[in-house]
Formats: sequence, structure tokens, C-alpha cells
Amino acid sequence: EIKNRNKNYFGAYSSFGIHRDMISDKVRTDAYRQALLENPSLLKSAVVMDVGCGTGILSLFAAQAGASRVFAVEASEKMAAIATQIAKDNNLLHNGSSGEGSQHNGVIEVVQGMIEELENADRIQPHSVDVLVSEWMGYCLLYESMLSSVLFARDRWLKPGGAVLPDTATMFVAGFGRGGASISFWENVYGFNMSCIGREVDDNAAGIPIVDVIDSCNIVTTTEVLQSFDLATMQPKQMEFTADVELGPKFDAPLHHPSGSKSTTNWCHGLVLWFETGFTKRFCKEKPVNLSTSPYGPSTHWSQTILTFREPIAMASNVNSEKLTLVGTNDCPAVRIQSRISIVRALQHRSIDISLELTGIG
Ligand code: SAH
Repeated sequence: EIKNRNKNYFGAYSSFGIHRDMISDKVRTDAYRQALLENPSLLKSAVVMDVGCGTGILSLFAAQAGASRVFAVEASEKMAAIATQIAKDNNLLHNGSSGEGSQHNGVIEVVQGMIEELENADRIQPHSVDVLVSEWMGYCLLYESMLSSVLFARDRWLKPGGAVLPDTATMFVAGFGRGGASISFWENVYGFNMSCIGREVDDNAAGIPIVDVIDSCNIVTTTEVLQSFDLATMQPKQMEFTADVELGPKFDAPLHHPSGSKSTTNWCHGLVLWFETGFTKRFCKEKPVNLSTSPYGPSTHWSQTILTFREPIAMASNVNSEKLTLVGTNDCPAVRIQSRISIVRALQHRSIDISLELTGIG
């Protein structure tokens, strides 16, 4: 029985903990808050649908922004009940859904169920929604992502020309050097060198995508766009893609060498992926907003996604180096890395498979 109680306790704690982590991610939550509150011509009197409302935070912002109606859809029974209570406690719950009295005259209606399976969905007229908002992004944008649920809601309930918030998503890729993943942490533990652990972690990481923070000073290549999505028009099949990227050296990268000595070589240990979502001026005319999970910006709960090479590649780090025309080894650093990255969905469990192929180094 004690075991069971523990399980329930930790179960409840962890699911509220996830919502707490998301709300505490200021980069994330402020981006949505700004997009909703600082675009009054979009939100004023609008009918809004919040896909996967969780605590209802985005619905509360939408109500605050002057929406005439907010349908807050949530699959989890527990979170739907919580979102209802929160809307009520903040006098933002719609009469019809409070189930008692009429002291609540707000605009939020919580609808419990998977968006794909709503039985009482006729309460929400097809193509009646002005603004569809959702925080659907997963690690590496697409891992466990709810994007297909958002596209489903868009096609069923959004008015022609209605707004999707955010309306763009872009994936980026760059090369990172030593110190990027776990090595730098283990290099100095209360003054002791534990870097053998970092090396082992790195070796084990080869071939497995890892979610971790990369510091921008460890990026040793240019940054390229891997893929862009237009949420207002894209089709679910576009969530799977193959893209070729060519990365060049980043000339302001610090000079790293395994032995610690300075050289004109930066070691590229793998690729790092991240994403941005845009609340662009297409719909957010007064205040476009960009939500970035870039290593060049403040960190978010998404961190970055790291793909480690089996062998590091020496990158030229000095544009004046006479060795630039040579290729590939420590003495002859590379000036470009060509790779092909594919993302496919593993349908059974909402995860993704990422494949990385080095197609050229030169
Ligand atoms: N909008 C909240 C919560 C985001 S987390 C916030 O910004 O803080 C995503 C939420 O979507 C989770 O609570 C999850 O239970 C819910 N969800 C995921 N897939 C769903 C689906 N297909 N239909 C309805 N809700 C879904």
C-alpha cells in the first residue's frame, strides 16, 4: 500500500512538475503571452481554440486579451479538471461549463478529450475559430510533438484565413566542438579532472541523439536552416523529410585543441539541432514574436539536440591559414562538412528517428 501511495504521489507530482517546468520557462511562456496580449486587433472579440491547454495558461492569456470565446481542449482528465478550476478561480470560466450558478461570466470553456476524438465537438462549429493557439513543440521540435493534432484542429475548426499561433517553425543545424556536450562538465569537478567520464559519455553518445545544452562558444561552424514549416498550410506528411546541409567554419570560434595548445584547428565533434517558432506579422501585425531555442540565446527547457560523430572532424578556424585548401585531418583542417539529415516518425510511440550521414568533408 505504501508503494502504491508513493506511486500516486510521484505520479501526481511529476505531472504537475512538467506543467510547472513549462510555465517557469520564461522564454517560452513570455513569447506566447506577448503574442496573445500585444496583438489586440487579432485577439479582441476572437473565438480562440487552445489545443492541449494543460493548466490553461494560454487560454487565460487569450481571455485576458479580450477573446469572446476560448475553447480549451485537454486530453488529460486530471488537467482538464484543473484547468476548469483555475479558469473558475480567476472568474474567466464560461457560464455554460461551470455546471452551477451563474456568477462566472468568463469566456473559457474547457473541453476534455483528445482533439481527434471529441464527441461533443458539435458545440464547436466547424470552421468557426479565428485563432488557433497551441504549445505543441517537443525536443528537436518534432519529438513526441503534438503537431499533427494541431494540424487536425486547424483543418476542422479554423476559419478560412484564420490565425495559427505560432505560424512558422524553423529547424537549425550547426557543428559543435569539445566542451559542447558533457566533457566540459566533467573536466573540472570541484577542481578534479573527471573528463574520462565525459569521454565515455561522448563515446556512448555516438549514434544516439541527446538533449543537452550547447554553449554558443562551442559552436565551430556556420549555422544553416535544416527545414522550415508553415503551420498555416503544411500537411502532416511534411513532418518527415530529408535535407542536405553544408556547414563551413565559424571564424570567430575559439581555438580548441585536445592537448590544450592553440592551433588553427577547431574539432567538430558532432551536429547540434535547435528550432525557433515564429508568431509572424502575417497574423501578429502589431507585435510579431519569435520563440528561439538557439544556443545563442537564453536557454529553454528544450535545450538543444546533439548528434555526436563517431570520429571528430578537424575544422579550419583561421581564414588566413594556408592549409585551407587541404582536407580532413588534424594537419589539414576541413573547410566544409556536407551532411544529409533525415527525420522520420516512429508512429507507434510519438518519437522520431533522426539519421545523419556525412556525405562530404573537404
Ligand atoms: N498549453 C499548456 C500545456 C502544454 S503541454 C502550456 O502552454 O503550458 C501539452 C498539453 O497538451 C498536455 O497537457 C497534454 O495532455 C495535451 N495534449 C497532448 N495531445 C493532445 C491531444 N491530442 N488532444 C488534447 N490534448 C492533448
